[in-house]
Amino acid sequence: MGLFDKFKEKVSQAMQSTGDALGFTKLKQGLEKTRSSFLHNLQGILGIGRKIDETLIQEIEDLLISADVGVQTSDLIIDSLRKRVKEEGHENADDVFNMLKEEIHGMLLKSPSASNDADYSIDENNKPHTIMVIGVNGVGKTTTIGKLAYNYKNAGKQVLIGAADTFRAAANEQLEVWAERAGVPIVQQAPGADPAAVAFDTLKSAQAKGFDVVIIDTAGRLHNKSNLMAELSKINRVMKKLKDSAPDDVYLVLDATTGQNALQQAKEFLKVADITGIVLTKLDGTAKGGIVLAIANELKIPVRYIGVGEKIDNLQVFDPDYFVEALFGT
Ligand code: GDP
Ligand code: GDP
Ligand code: MG
Repeated sequence: MGLFDKFKEKVSQAMQSTGDALGFTKLKQGLEKTRSSFLHNLQGILGIGRKIDETLIQEIEDLLISADVGVQTSDLIIDSLRKRVKEEGHENADDVFNMLKEEIHGMLLKSPSASNDADYSIDENNKPHTIMVIGVNGVGKTTTIGKLAYNYKNAGKQVLIGAADTFRAAANEQLEVWAERAGVPIVQQAPGADPAAVAFDTLKSAQAKGFDVVIIDTAGRLHNKSNLMAELSKINRVMKKLKDSAPDDVYLVLDATTGQNALQQAKEFLKVADITGIVLTKLDGTAKGGIVLAIANELKIPVRYIGVGEKIDNLQVFDPDYFVEALFGT
């Protein structure tokens, strides 16, 4: 059985056994904009009875780039496609659909995201599992924290949220709303308080009460790199006073609708923080979801979660198999 058939089988088995608890349908709906424009354009290029030639390959590369896959990653996919066409002697454009799907899948399987083991379990011997969430303003940090808290809670974990975005006055209220939706408590101080102090209080309280998971929201300023670095390292340092390994995870949140800018932001943040995972939000809000492929391929850290809507149950563990299956939508 080929790779392709194997993951198709995995998807259909998972849907049968879980009644779609893994949210494949939701993923497909969330990717609808990207999927419909991508597939429509791809089918337009492949046409009926067209032969594979250099022009066709070029058109596919342009399609990838226009879906925000980025030049570097598009090149990689196209090179492997070209090689296969030659080696296997394909002539009909019809063959390209499945080959492209397989090459994109293969690229993801070679990326750090292939080893994404994000689920909602934690190391019971190293509690509380401490997550710091970073990223520029408006990317969806607070929303993602609400969704993460909700998912951890549904997995039977006790979650405490820390409101260390003390920069904006409204930040506390927004986080409170999400904490309430998720049904988890929150630790906060007055706006303007030291973010590190909030992180410290949160972790300390979680330890005292035996919580499983701590999630720390942060402010999203990137206008001054040395400020940001100082603030993040101070939060880190203060949390380490309470727990050596804290923060156990640092998630960088990126907004898929900002396309190649998201990749640029990631490169900047990687210089100042030990990021352990990417959360890519708002995939439902863009036709350029190809940015996932660029991020997965070009960064050395895995895409852990994707946001496919504004509701609390719209955060999904990123799974390359499901993603490709949903994108090509067969
Ligand atoms: P923060 O400034 O990084 O904390 O960003 P927020 O969490 O406040 O989110 C900014 C906006 O993005 C809000 O209007 C959210 O509803 C929206 N948002 C966040 N995640 C998603 C998502 O996955 N899909 C959509 N469509 N909107 C999202
Ligand atoms: P500094 O502000 O650069 O001197 O950094 P510190 O390492 O002293 O701590 C930063 C913040 O974390 C402080 O403002 C405190 O509010 C908080 N913090 C650090 N250590 C403790 C502690 O032992 N107890 C409490 N309650 N807060 C602490
Ligand atoms: Mg926020």
